[in-house]
Amino acid sequence: MFDVNKIRKDFPILNREVNGKPLVYLDNAATSQTPQQVIDVIVSYYQNNNANIHRGVHTLSQEATDMYEQARVKIQKHFNAAQAHEIILTSGTTHSINIVANGFSALIKKGDEILVSAMEHHSNIVPWQMLCERTGGVLKVIPMNQEGELLMEVYDELLCEKTKLVFCNHISNALGTINPIEEIIEKAHSVGAAVLIDGAQAAPHVIADMQKLDVDFYTVSAHKICGPTGVGMLYGKEAWLHKLPPYQGGGEMIAEVTFEKTTYAGLPHKFEAGTPNICGGIAFGAALDYMNAIGFDDIAAYEHELLAYATEKLLEIDGLKIYGTAKNKTSVISFNMEGIHPYDIGSILDKLGVAVRTGHHCAQPIMDFYKIPGTVRASFCFYNTKDEVNALVDAVRRATKMLS
Ligand SMILES: *Cc1c(COP(=O)(O)O)cnc(C)c1O
Repeated sequence: MFDVNKIRKDFPILNREVNGKPLVYLDNAATSQTPQQVIDVIVSYYQNNNANIHRGVHTLSQEATDMYEQARVKIQKHFNAAQAHEIILTSGTTHSINIVANGFSALIKKGDEILVSAMEHHSNIVPWQMLCERTGGVLKVIPMNQEGELLMEVYDELLCEKTKLVFCNHISNALGTINPIEEIIEKAHSVGAAVLIDGAQAAPHVIADMQKLDVDFYTVSAHKICGPTGVGMLYGKEAWLHKLPPYQGGGEMIAEVTFEKTTYAGLPHKFEAGTPNICGGIAFGAALDYMNAIGFDDIAAYEHELLAYATEKLLEIDGLKIYGTAKNKTSVISFNMEGIHPYDIGSILDKLGVAVRTGHHCAQPIMDFYKIPGTVRASFCFYNTKDEVNALVDAVRRATKMLS
């Protein structure tokens, strides 16, 4: 049984106060909080097992290597990848995307087309622009409607034999829209294009099945799913990972080095140059264990309830407008108060202990689309409560009164 009060006890930070008020943490789409179970794994690693991996014959090194590789298998199982070496451990989504964008430099020719959705995070726009600058590739945008849903009929028109790559987030961090990635992947494949899905915002809410989706690349950041910062995954289909050249050179990613020539290591090490975030990778696995023990079905159902409740309560406030009203969305609410800058609301909310994000949420093109400077974004996690939604609504009312 899903018991939010019991779950909250796992998160020590939720007990703290901010500006003399109980913390109401509603910035989960930026980073989620870390449960004691994961903190314990991090502490224990440094207390008992810390060593460099894959190189040493000594016991600590072997233990650390085993723990790290077990985490990789855990991640593989969670996302149902066919093989553990299709899971590249990276520093997070941004790093993962840059590995693919860099790799495609070798494969994209002048005039080839890359499609990105209109609701991408900057980390899913800028690397492709850089790729196009290097190669003469052409970036095209799949537009969206006022609700924040992709125009799939325009996508159909854009797809052609020139399309080499399609990039889209699974769930938008700014709007909460759940994109129809099954359809996006299938249609891209029908013209022979590869697909990268940015799953950074989806991983906390749903389990994406790599084999069922038949996706070519999928990215995740551990810090958005109760894990630490600085670690994440790039899933890549084995055939693609063989095709792409390595991104960074260094230790760990080589088979043999002479001054004349270096041969690269096999997967996954080819893409894992240097000493990785060993403890982070192990904690990433522990975070998945933690979330799976609660259960993603229960998490999704509860978050949906919070979303519906918060949407209803916020819309009762005069002059409040929500951006991103897709039929299919997760527990992210981007909104503005008529005539008030989002930063001003955000600052007063902080004084009242309520943590939200304000600004463009690394998605300036979305803000340009709505012709606004930014939004206030409240994003809910399974440890948030209806009382906290009420605190948010009260705080927004108070802020509005003070500012108007
Ligand atoms: C957070 C986020 C990113 C960037 O993740 P990093 O952990 O900062 O690399 C990319 N895309 C989406 C949709 C995100 O929510």
